[in-house]
Amino acid sequence: MCPHVLLFPLPIQSPINSMLQLAELFCLAGLQVTFLNTNHNQQLLYRHTDVESRFRQYPKFQFRTISDGLPDDHPRSSILFGDLITSLQAVAEPFLREIVTESGVTCVIPDGLFYYAVDICNEVGVSVISFDTISPCCLWVYLCFPKLIQSGDIPFKGNDLDVLIENVPGMEDLLRRRDFPFYRLTNCATDLYCQLALKEIQSIPRSHGLILNTFEDLDGSLLSNIRTHCPQTYAVGPLQLQLKTRLSDKSMSSSNSLREEDDSSIQWLDAQPVESVIYVSFGSLATLTKEEMLEFWHGLVNSGIRFLWVMRSDLLREEKFSHQFVKELTDGSEERAYIVSWAPQEKVLSHPAIGGFLTHSGWNSTMESIVERKPMICWAVYVDQRVTSRFVGEVWKIGLDMKDICDRYIIEKAVKDLMVTNKDKLKKSVDKLSMLAKISVGEGGSSYNAFESLVNDIKKLGR
Ligand code: UDP
Repeated sequence: MCPHVLLFPLPIQSPINSMLQLAELFCLAGLQVTFLNTNHNQQLLYRHTDVESRFRQYPKFQFRTISDGLPDDHPRSSILFGDLITSLQAVAEPFLREIVTESGVTCVIPDGLFYYAVDICNEVGVSVISFDTISPCCLWVYLCFPKLIQSGDIPFKGNDLDVLIENVPGMEDLLRRRDFPFYRLTNCATDLYCQLALKEIQSIPRSHGLILNTFEDLDGSLLSNIRTHCPQTYAVGPLQLQLKTRLSDKSMSSSNSLREEDDSSIQWLDAQPVESVIYVSFGSLATLTKEEMLEFWHGLVNSGIRFLWVMRSDLLREEKFSHQFVKELTDGSEERAYIVSWAPQEKVLSHPAIGGFLTHSGWNSTMESIVERKPMICWAVYVDQRVTSRFVGEVWKIGLDMKDICDRYIIEKAVKDLMVTNKDKLKKSVDKLSMLAKISVGEGGSSYNAFESLVNDIKKLGR
């Protein structure tokens, strides 16, 4: 009997990207695949991508949709992420119970945040393998939470954010309070995100396995630590590269964007010199204050370096994005700056005109930047971004971690460092990691083998 896998991503851009890549890999491996999406995101996917026709070539693939429990006009922004998670759970729990009981699903692969999916599968007797789409370095910090709470490391006592957190094995000399996922945490018992992280890690040992979008040469020692909690951890990343390697038509478009991509960014890049442009994007959810946005703008303009900036319509934290504000900013500097509201990011990062990436250090963006050999400036906002940016700066040494001080002079200097002064050194490190990533997904490489084991293990899983 053909194994039937049900994938259930967190209803936001980056997990949808990664889960769709994994879904397509499973299709190529001949598995039957159901992709459970929210109605809201499914509509956006169909509107802005070729996903519908792309997946039609796989007869054993189907999309299923459920409501996310929110009214159509309810904003689904980062500030309201808690609302979305709670309302979706109310709809998803009964739906999952029914579908795993009745539809012959062999294995459920939920996002690591959906601890309740793990409970339901264990109750019903269906195998479950969690997929944590956050960075493994942050996941390891999460896994140490109980110990950190017990030792009194968190919540922090005092305001000094430079104090080292010494109870995360392997990060004793590295992880400062300012690098901690919830660095403003005051009470673990009442903080929604801390509670979610605790539930997430409790469900890991109750899953049959854990999928991570990384590769052994990048995160080897972290993976050994994570395997003490979940021995069956499959490091199958970078997923977009694994997929590209296995697709026979390498040129196939693979956009999974929930927003309309502005391809004029590529035409603009075509007219720029090699490695002359820094790409600026804060992902799909992170926001900036108006003051921060101004500092970034002036820092970038003063650096004299060309830049392509993704200014999402919901990028400003306090108010609806004002087109007048952008117009005032961009007037006079159009030649060196190009603004779009959403870009085809992977295409942008692979463009020869791009020399670096000013990023919020989301895990997908970080992996995409490594694959495309672009060093980074990190402006981490929250959760895994804070740990990841520390690793970018201090462990992998493929970028500069700004951490907390948003000042136009610092930004100007960082941009010049990245694109001119330290360019060769950073480029050398990121080139090496990119090469290792490519080797990992090639036949016989660690991620290639991990994906083969994952498929074989799924085939062995009975009901
Ligand atoms: N992305 C994109 N176009 C943009 C900005 C982002 O396609 O203009 C994609 C990007 O390629 C990445 C995802 O959105 O796959 C963002 O994921 P990430 O984990 O970096 O950050 P998040 O949005 O979850 O904070």
